[in-house]
Amino acid sequence: MSQIKAVRGTRDLLPPETELWNHIEATARRVFARYAFGEIRTPIFEDTQLFARGVGEETDIVSKEMYTWEDRARAQSEKAQMLTLRPENTAGVVRAYIEHKLGDTGLLQKLYYIGPQFRRERPQKGRYRQFFQIGAEVIGPTSAGSESPLRDAEILEMLGTLLGELGITGWMLELNSVGSAADRPRYVQALREALVDVAATLCADCQRRAVTNPLRVLDCKVPEDQGKINELPKIADFLDEDSRAHFAMVCAALDACDVPYTINPRLVRGLDYYTRTTFEFTHGGLGAQNALLGGGRYDGLSEAIGGPKAPGIGFAMGADRLVLTLQAQAAEGGANNAAILVDVYIAPLGGAQQAQSLVLARELRRAGLRVELGDGTFRLKKSFEMGNKLARKIVLFGEEEAASGIVTIKDFETGEQTKVPRGELADFLSTKHSRFPVARE
Ligand code: ATP
Ligand code: MG
Repeated sequence: MSQIKAVRGTRDLLPPETELWNHIEATARRVFARYAFGEIRTPIFEDTQLFARGVGEETDIVSKEMYTWEDRARAQSEKAQMLTLRPENTAGVVRAYIEHKLGDTGLLQKLYYIGPQFRRERPQKGRYRQFFQIGAEVIGPTSAGSESPLRDAEILEMLGTLLGELGITGWMLELNSVGSAADRPRYVQALREALVDVAATLCADCQRRAVTNPLRVLDCKVPEDQGKINELPKIADFLDEDSRAHFAMVCAALDACDVPYTINPRLVRGLDYYTRTTFEFTHGGLGAQNALLGGGRYDGLSEAIGGPKAPGIGFAMGADRLVLTLQAQAAEGGANNAAILVDVYIAPLGGAQQAQSLVLARELRRAGLRVELGDGTFRLKKSFEMGNKLARKIVLFGEEEAASGIVTIKDFETGEQTKVPRGELADFLSTKHSRFPVARE
């Protein structure tokens, strides 16, 4: 029979890599809590209209990357609903904000999420069809300060801190302002006019974008187009006084906290709803898919999906790309990627010791150690081979050890053999001896 495989663009995450995923998620949760964020979990699928309106019909995501299907109608008279696997999480969070009237609290809502997203893209390194985002949104009524540039700066400072605590070095922050809903039409008009002369000399995608969504031309990655695109009008020259002041304050706050950034006037980002601040953190080690995370301010999003005025700002990081970056850094540092999963391997010597070795394993596990238990039917040689693949140390537990309460422990690396009273074993094995690829919380 033919073998069934994971669907193209999806993958299984296996130990020990999942250890790294857990470390990333735990670090993010810890940092978010310190910045007064709470977790939100929205559904994996939503009404297709949410994304059409909240992300924008003209975006790549909505126009070609969504997994959409028609739900089964409950009654014949009922129109079947169109549903979509979420391609991103901001629209869902804002929908929940509106649906639960979170604005009525008068407080700023600081919400983070961790979960899978789905986009029908061409799979390649760092780009999958099911991928994972860690993101956060700050949204609320204007009276709660949701429009303040301080929120933008706080998020960017938090991201610098988070990447630092994850141990990611060498990131770059690119920053821009795309102006307010009032600035944008004037800029788009100027862009359209400038493109009349140039568009025909650009790539086919740009020729299409010049008509449907001129801002997207700035996103073009085709090398031959870059010179001409750099000559196009810059959004910075079209910002009104408020947008300019907002951006200046964001930059000043980042300077005060020593968060390094560069201003990239072409950074408009993929989603239609962005206003004012947009940003991206990139990493050189990622190759073509170099964006670790992206985000921006979306002051009109809530209204675009039928809610009250609720300015906000947020970001989404690609967890898959964080993993790739940390793995690349570890490989550079010569880290051992061996599948060391446990602190100790217990080898029961003979079938008669099986039950008591489970008791010993329980003692150590209750003391917080990671323990794998061998089997009483294994010969000593086999126990050593199996143990060496999983752990740094092996405990031999035979008839003599059970009787005397003193066990023999052997370190695979040094070859050192020690006799330790059973009651002191947990201390002896405590974390400073462990060889996990990732530091534990
Ligand atoms: P890209 O330019 O890489 O396509 P994007 O602008 O589409 O990114 P966003 O929609 O802003 O990305 O998503 C935020 C982050 O989510 C990205 O910076 C990236 O790290 C991650 N991401 C987006 N799409 C994918 C994907 N298909 N596979 C893995 N990670 C992804
Ligand atoms: Mg994309």
